[in-house]
Amino acid sequence: MLIGQGFDAHRFAPGRRLVLGGLEIPHDLGLIAHSDGDVLIHALCDALLGAAGLGDIGNHFPDTDDAYAGIDSRILLRQVIASLSERGLSVHNADMTIIAQQPKLAPHIPAMREILAADLGCDPARVNVKATTMEHMGFTGRGEGIAASAAVLLIEDA
Ligand code: MG
Repeated sequence: MLIGQGFDAHRFAPGRRLVLGGLEIPHDLGLIAHSDGDVLIHALCDALLGAAGLGDIGNHFPDTDDAYAGIDSRILLRQVIASLSERGLSVHNADMTIIAQQPKLAPHIPAMREILAADLGCDPARVNVKATTMEHMGFTGRGEGIAASAAVLLIEDA
């Protein structure tokens, strides 16, 4: 078994979509990024790449490459899963935390789990997503952006 962890943060800006865990969430602000800004999927990709000893999302999908401008982060996630599968690795489980003061995310979590489980190739019961605030402290607490962390366990195919 191989364990990995990932972390990411993005800043809010008006006029952008808010996409978290592959799900578009109604909000007056979205996250600035070269891609669609899905901070949760970025943290998850880093955890997966980390567990496999494959560096990080920036090595694989550079933000200087126009091919990734505005890209759906689920495409990146599926590419990461494909490279793990080439190495005989599958996801045993994943556990993630979104750190955001706003918007309220609890109602969206079941849908995020379904979406991520489909891309990870495992049962939604093995894909946990949590959300917390920072009690108005720090950059997420001031509503400047959203952060996310992820932990994964990979298993080597028999
Ligand atoms: Mg990112």
